[in-house]
Amino acid sequence: MIAQPKPDEKRARQIAVVSGKGGTGKTTIAATLAAMVAPLVLADADVEAANLGLVFGVKQTEAEAFPGLPLAVVDPAACTGCGVCVELCRFGAIAPIDLDNPVADIDLLACEGCGVCVDNCPVGAIAGVPAQAGVLFVGRSSLGPMVSAELEPGQDLSGRLTTLVRQRAVKEAEGAGLDLILIDGPPGTGCPTIATITGVDALIAVAEPTAAGTADLIRLMDLAGRFDLIPSVIINKIDLSPQGAAVIEAACADRGAHVIARIPFIEGVSRWLEDGAPLQRLPEALQPLHAVAAGLRSEGPVT
Ligand code: SF4
Ligand code: SF4
Repeated sequence: MIAQPKPDEKRARQIAVVSGKGGTGKTTIAATLAAMVAPLVLADADVEAANLGLVFGVKQTEAEAFPGLPLAVVDPAACTGCGVCVELCRFGAIAPIDLDNPVADIDLLACEGCGVCVDNCPVGAIAGVPAQAGVLFVGRSSLGPMVSAELEPGQDLSGRLTTLVRQRAVKEAEGAGLDLILIDGPPGTGCPTIATITGVDALIAVAEPTAAGTADLIRLMDLAGRFDLIPSVIINKIDLSPQGAAVIEAACADRGAHVIARIPFIEGVSRWLEDGAPLQRLPEALQPLHAVAAGLRSEGPVT
């Protein structure tokens, strides 16, 4: 759950920038908006591929271990080879007991940490050993505090870690007296996206006008609808396909979503970001984002 403020407490407004697919330019747009409205708290909720911090040269001040589910470890001296755990493990993580393999042998890469074997071993030969699933980072950027995280490969607690990033961002905003949290969300419509958009004040969806981009945006809008959110849509790389852009505009109109900016393809935009996104050298094509940025602190959806 995302921390809720007390009734008389003014809390920071939370805006998530998301996309139905990767490669839409979401992080570029989130970074540009952040540079335009600083100071603020930045939250990189893409815990499987965080890269917002690369843009602003974040100085890391804290790194906190994120515990995963405990993995099952056998004490071979205590195991009687009864085979109960082999039968019970529905993930096939425990090799069958036989003459060559007389005690339980658990593949830790396959173990999902469900704890069933730990609870059911008749002689208590299996223990659940805590494993680290990721790291939560807090740092300082030129725009304000930044919270991000890194999930270990193969771990599937991305939704939980995303929620922790958001909770810590709220704490940072309270501590620094900042009124805005910009969340750079993950692509897609899975668990981490759900954790990113739950309880936000406004949602911005970045889409590109390709067939896949449109389909993914529609999926994202439908997901957002389940949380009573209507995203404000930015069409990026609009000149790639004016026809595709028209399809996006129609899909947005059908769902009551507003297209708030139309950005052409920008050659070498990442170089501008790598320079630290100095607004004095903002590429012409990104100028429409000034109007979006001007509305980020207003109540309701971004217009
Ligand atoms: S249930 Fe316990 S005793 Fe039986 S094989 Fe598994 S670890 Fe060994
Ligand atoms: S903890 Fe669960 S997944 Fe892991 S070995 Fe035991 S039963 Fe299998």
